[in-house]
Amino acid sequence: MQAFTWFLILYTGSALVGLTALWYFYDRSDKRSFESSRRRKVFHCVRCGSLYSVRKEDASEGESCPDCSYNNYELSF
Ligand SMILES: [Zn+2]
Repeated sequence: MQAFTWFLILYTGSALVGLTALWYFYDRSDKRSFESSRRRKVFHCVRCGSLYSVRKEDASEGESCPDCSYNNYELSF
């Protein structure tokens, strides 16, 4: 009976540790993917009218359009 109790404690404990590790891992990867999509800069080309975005920290000098290579500045909302 005593061995069964210890087995039960270890079994539930390891399950809890495993679930916590999984939760921590998925929470971190979720946050990382959200941050990378949030940091995109959106540009609207004034020459050909296309919308495009880049994943860049500093785009204060503008970014050239992929269709007509005209240098556009970041959209601000
Ligand atoms: Zn363009």
